[in-house]
Amino acid sequence: MADYIYTMELRLTPNQQKGVTLVQDIARAAGMNVYLTGGAVRDIISGFAIRDLDFTVQGNPLKLQKDFERAGAIIGGTDDDTKTLYVTLPGSVRAEVSSARIERYEKTGKPPIISPATLIEDLRRRDFTVNAMALSLNPGSRGLLMDPYNGAADIEAKLLRVLHNYAFVEDPSRLIRASRFAARFHWPLEERTQARYDAAKENNYIEYIANAAIGYEIEQLAYEDDPLNIIRIYEKEGWLKVLAPHWTTAKVDTPGLSQLMKTRQQMNELGYAPDPSPAVLHFLTAKLSDKEASDIRKQIPRRDLAEAWRDIEDHAKDLAKRLSGKEAATPSRTWKLLSSARQEMVLFLAVTARQQAVAQKIKNFFTKWRQVQQKLPLPEMTELLITPQLPEYPKIADDVFMLLLDGKLRSRTELLKFLKPLAPPPPPPPPPPRRGRGAKAVAAAALVPPVGKKKSKAEAAPVIPGSAAKAASPAKDSNKPAARPSPSAKPAKAAKKAPPKKNSAGSKTSRSMKTAKKH
Ligand code: ATP
Repeated sequence: MADYIYTMELRLTPNQQKGVTLVQDIARAAGMNVYLTGGAVRDIISGFAIRDLDFTVQGNPLKLQKDFERAGAIIGGTDDDTKTLYVTLPGSVRAEVSSARIERYEKTGKPPIISPATLIEDLRRRDFTVNAMALSLNPGSRGLLMDPYNGAADIEAKLLRVLHNYAFVEDPSRLIRASRFAARFHWPLEERTQARYDAAKENNYIEYIANAAIGYEIEQLAYEDDPLNIIRIYEKEGWLKVLAPHWTTAKVDTPGLSQLMKTRQQMNELGYAPDPSPAVLHFLTAKLSDKEASDIRKQIPRRDLAEAWRDIEDHAKDLAKRLSGKEAATPSRTWKLLSSARQEMVLFLAVTARQQAVAQKIKNFFTKWRQVQQKLPLPEMTELLITPQLPEYPKIADDVFMLLLDGKLRSRTELLKFLKPLAPPPPPPPPPPRRGRGAKAVAAAALVPPVGKKKSKAEAAPVIPGSAAKAASPAKDSNKPAARPSPSAKPAKAAKKAPPKKNSAGSKTSRSMKTAKKH
């Protein structure tokens, strides 16, 4: 049995991995079989970035809403017909959890008749072979790939293939989806699929598209990495006016959208992961009337996304106001404000700020001030034994960074004056070497951490100062103190020097000595 769990874990971000475990646990506790399906499986196999997680459960996921909320997930919306939950899992992981179902289309233009189904039956209602795969997350078969339409081969061949001849007639939104995937992956439609696509286009099947599908596809545009390219293709294919009658590429704020994607990339490189989707929708519809934009908004299934888009300008104004006021009177205060602000708002304001002063502050936050962050006076700090091993180190490093930002530590004298009172007392001199068992015990005790005691965070990782430390790129210099021998390393030398003595009892002490020798 091919085991894709390893590949899955390798390809998912840590937050996505936690998301998979969470959904798996919630479904399992409710007695429902659960599978990772759709685009997530496709992207795991193809190597493209995994943007969201689609789960299919055998049962009704709408009953699991409370469990998800208790676990810290946000329910963005629900679809009662397909029994789908649109959730954001902790760590901003976008996910859909839907019920395994059969969709039976009896008449063109009429919604399908939906009934519960097995997973394999569910895969039969999918759009393209590459999206009709599932990965079991259930005990006994976890990691088993179900691929009844040989989607893996089409991924290999880089082809989009519908599952049957009626795919575009049954659900014309698949025409829009075909254009989107072809543009995103640069995968052509397989020959017969292309012929069906052309015929469907010629026969104007698109006019039978369901309203729910329109809203769903508009939302999907917001998650694209290159939405401008997709919307241009939609216009060329005639799909854009289907999504909204007055929508054209001329209504897009093209420079704004390009700048948004560039700034997002810069933020990603600095370790931030803002969700650009509300801002993408803002720029895509920038020149539509308020009424037209509001009509589009109403159709989006995720209500939280629709609201974030509606409120984005107001929230940006609030942040700009705060950045112009006392709260951001100094660089250090501005740093704190921008570090604690929602990253989505910082992203949006970075692109739209009209006041020069506000724009400059955001620019400094991303560039100049980060260079200051790299210039912590590490030699002086190490000299005073202020190293990452100290529990107070993060706070001290942060304070130094703030003072440096505000230009308050200009000379070495000023620096030492600030640091000296914070230095820990020098460590006591090492005890004189003892002979015999006692020496072994002392050496071993110095080497072996007490059982069950975890390394403190400060010991485990170098600390980057600044409130946005987690988001900052690791500064090479800030690693240095950790690499230097710390006072606690001294007794290890004593251990090596202690005369060897047999300990036939195989006690903890003798095992520790072996470990010490290996090192
Ligand atoms: P991505 O999220 O990367 O754009 P995706 O394949 O996950 O791609 P979604 O729109 O999230 O796309 O849909 C999830 C899955 O649901 C798809 O992979 C597909 O299997 C199925 N699906 C979505 N829309 C349709 C449709 N109109 N007809 C058939 N199956 C669909």
